[in-house]
Amino acid sequence: MSPSQSVADLGEHALIARLHERVPPPPPWVVLGMGDDAAVLAPERGEQLVLTTDSLVEDVHFRRALTPLDAVGYKALAVNLSDLAAMGAASRAALLSLALPGTLLVSEFDAMVDGLLTLAGVSRTPLVGGNITRSPGPLVIDVTVVGSARARRIVTRGGGRAGDELYVTGWLGASAAGLAALQSGAARPELDSDLAACVARYERPEPRLRAGLIAARSRTVTAGIDLSDGLADGVRQIATASRVGAIVEAGDVPVHPGAGAWAARTSSDPLTWALSGGEDYELLFAVPKRRTRSFLAATKHWAGLQVTRVGHLTREPGVWLRRGERLEPLGSGFVHF
Ligand SMILES: [Mg+2]
Repeated sequence: MSPSQSVADLGEHALIARLHERVPPPPPWVVLGMGDDAAVLAPERGEQLVLTTDSLVEDVHFRRALTPLDAVGYKALAVNLSDLAAMGAASRAALLSLALPGTLLVSEFDAMVDGLLTLAGVSRTPLVGGNITRSPGPLVIDVTVVGSARARRIVTRGGGRAGDELYVTGWLGASAAGLAALQSGAARPELDSDLAACVARYERPEPRLRAGLIAARSRTVTAGIDLSDGLADGVRQIATASRVGAIVEAGDVPVHPGAGAWAARTSSDPLTWALSGGEDYELLFAVPKRRTRSFLAATKHWAGLQVTRVGHLTREPGVWLRRGERLEPLGSGFVHF
């Protein structure tokens, strides 16, 4: 077998065997991992299961000309882990389903699997099952993750109350700036370190599992969401689910320095990237004022990840952006259809 062979040359069974070989021995909670009809997990006492699934479709979510396949594999798992992080759940296992064009090279298949398994290792998310089928069209990578959390610690979108303050992790707009830089044809080696960080965020977003777990366990947050579709969408989702309104302070949104620099060079608006660009996969939390001190104390254990207050929830419905004295409607995030 040579890596320049296509996956069609190799066939489904050989591909599955190849995937299986790359999977390390699973942690103890996996009673039965890959290789049987289904996987078996031991439940954690006193915890509930948290499940989510998401797929990346070629030419909808990524282009092979722009994004290396190891990054596609990494990101397919990352976006799912980000959802677990938002709920305050720990990851327990992942399932992978692939639809592959027959012309895909075995070396490309290997790269995609290695990208996914790298994050699986770092995040202690064992891959316990997989399915591979041929696609007559685009490459599709579909991941399901299983998490678990204590029942009363699970964070949803709907628990926010009027007066709660909104806090966001990290820096925003980086992913959109990174994508814009790639689309402009900027050569990777020429990117300065800030912009390279933006491209890295677009390709390999870091799911905020630790921050999500710590926030949930601190019992200081009333609602949370991960920012897959931008800050504006996240705020709107929390406000809608919590049946309140919200105001975001334009001047307080933490715009990534690389996004700011690339925006200046291309006459773009980095705030728009932060609000609507999406794919930063940071977390947004609602925190009651009386819990602010405990919440901020808990964030000290986030291993250097910063947190910024960006607005608050209001009794009056409607979601607004405050620029100076003016209130304007907060635009929506990235819309898939
Ligand atoms: Mg989400």
